[in-house]
Amino acid sequence: VSGLEVSDAVVRYGSVTAVDGVTLAVPPGRVVALLGPSGSGKSTLLRAVAGLEPLASGSIRWDGEDLADVKVHRRNFGLVFQDAQLFPTMTVGRNIAYGLSRWDRAAQRTRVAEMLELVGLPGFEDRRVTELSGGQAQRIALARSLAPSPRALLLDEPLSALDTGLRRRLAEDLARILRETHTTAIHVTHDHQEAFTVADTVAVLQEGRLLQIDDPDALRRTP
Ligand code: ADP
Ligand code: ADP
Repeated sequence: VSGLEVSDAVVRYGSVTAVDGVTLAVPPGRVVALLGPSGSGKSTLLRAVAGLEPLASGSIRWDGEDLADVKVHRRNFGLVFQDAQLFPTMTVGRNIAYGLSRWDRAAQRTRVAEMLELVGLPGFEDRRVTELSGGQAQRIALARSLAPSPRALLLDEPLSALDTGLRRRLAEDLARILRETHTTAIHVTHDHQEAFTVADTVAVLQEGRLLQIDDPDALRRTP
């Protein structure tokens, strides 16, 4: 099986079962949203995929390989969080080139320009990170995580800190960018509209369990 396969995953924090037997597939190039209220286990499941939380039982595989055997830094996933977490003392260009240390300088420069074009901020190489708006900072965070061509992108409430209008626009841009780059992604959100805009498949979580999984059109018809 190619892509990501989560099988009967359980994550516990002491006596709390945060993820309670979730089975979920993300085929190559597809975008799956994890949708659910606060505390439903979305973040924990994403962190388990990223290798930041161990499974109590079950498995997470990529192209058939059990990720329990793969060190976090070798999993080659790109991560985007609610807060852009850019390096404040580096320029925008240096932030985006961060994961490209093994590339030669010319290739880095070309890749950075290409990523800035992709996220709609061409020519921003020399800007200071501290002067960016919230929406611009998230675009740069996206550019930084896509630059090294990760095998999948894991996005944890990437738009939740932005105001509603901006969130809607960025969700549409994000959907376009993920399609254009054929990126495999998991997008965590508590916002239905955002999940429907960004994802091919929406997985609804409740109390650590998968309540429903379907495409956005089918879910919109669900009363
Ligand atoms: P339907 O046409 O009835 O929506 P699907 O082929 O979309 O059927 O899905 C059939 C069942 O398979 C769903 O009810 C769901 O439980 C499961 N399923 C669908 N997509 C996934 C997925 N990406 N990962 C895990 N299970 C899935
Ligand atoms: P969501 O992302 O849907 O808001 P979380 O995955 O953050 O949900 O949380 C799922 C459950 O796990 C909640 O009951 C939460 O309180 C608990 N939880 C999350 N992180 C921790 C932690 N580091 N220690 C203890 N409990 C946690």
